Amino acid sequence: MAYETFTSNLPRAWAEIDLSAFERNIGKIKAALPPHVRYIAVVKADAYGHGVGHIVERLLQCGIDAFAVANAREGSDVRYIAPQSEIFILGPTLPEEFESVAADKLTVAISNADEARALSRLAEAKKTRVPVNVKIDTGMGRMGVWHEEALPLLELLPTLGGLDFRGVFTHFSSADSSREYTELQRSRFLAVVEKIPPKIRERLTIHADNSAGLETFSRKKPFNAVRVGILQYGLPPVAGTIFEEISPEPVLSFRARIGLVKTLPAGTPLSYNRTKVLDKETRIALVTAGYGDGIPTAASNKAEFVVCGKRVPVLGRVTMDQTIIDVSGVPEVRVGVPATIIGKSDGASVSIEEFCSWGGCISWEALVSITKRVPRIYHGLRNL
Ligand SMILES: *Cc1c(COP(=O)(O)O)cnc(C)c1O
Repeated sequence: MAYETFTSNLPRAWAEIDLSAFERNIGKIKAALPPHVRYIAVVKADAYGHGVGHIVERLLQCGIDAFAVANAREGSDVRYIAPQSEIFILGPTLPEEFESVAADKLTVAISNADEARALSRLAEAKKTRVPVNVKIDTGMGRMGVWHEEALPLLELLPTLGGLDFRGVFTHFSSADSSREYTELQRSRFLAVVEKIPPKIRERLTIHADNSAGLETFSRKKPFNAVRVGILQYGLPPVAGTIFEEISPEPVLSFRARIGLVKTLPAGTPLSYNRTKVLDKETRIALVTAGYGDGIPTAASNKAEFVVCGKRVPVLGRVTMDQTIIDVSGVPEVRVGVPATIIGKSDGASVSIEEFCSWGGCISWEALVSITKRVPRIYHGLRNL
């Protein structure tokens, strides 16, 4: 057979980001929220690997004006694109970052009186006001002031100069798995919120729920914001939430190309440590992506990719730059054709959840593990 190839100007491995699907997801989320509830778009970790620039830009075009990031550095990147928006830092801020968060007007999450006092001193010295949220630990055991110790901090804040007390929030540890524990956390949080004097409370942003926030949300005050992350990027909502009815579309597809096709005899061991031995003569292909691009080694001998509209199995260990697949059932395969690792192609598909079941990871992790080496290609860009 002649050496047939498929040429194109596609890279070796890439992620396609469908901004039109993203925009439809935003619309569905907005429509599901009660009118008094603000949509805080979580865009940490480079917008879950989708590329924070285009993602924030599209959110702004859709009228979203509040963002949440992990840290000062990410906040600064978002500030550059969104000069007017409120930007919440979800994680701890280090003392040496105080100056930059103040300059960027980022909303800092405060977990104790020492942080509050130090930030207040800095803000006063700089003759500025730093917006702050108090994080309450209601049982996640991570950020925040332990709920039973929150009151002194809440009373201290309004007495400190240079701080603009803007909100209180908590985070659920088991929103997608335990209604009971989530309700315990919610009741602990509400007990704290109720102790804030009404005059102060009425101007606070009060938020607890992420994409999986259970409760059916009660739709009532005092909650007036939600922090939406993974749902925006198209992962299905959790049953029993205010988002239950919406069906978001996946935004990201992950693809690479076939770099070589060859036939190997029965008995040939494949890849590092010979974890797979061919039991018959087999036509194999090399996909030009590996764990250096974001395919976990846990997916070795387990994952399936889509090639020419057919699902084909991964053979042997995933390596840094290449992954071997069995293309015996795909006679039309040629060097250069795309292989889909996550997403749809020619009527066949692999969902992120399925990819994660092979890779031993969670959806958030799979998305943020697609590495820098993988360029993001955007569909649905809008010319302004
Ligand atoms: C990441 C994060 C979120 C968003 O969670 P999703 O499950 O992706 O919606 C919300 N709140 C906090 C504190 C977070 O760290």
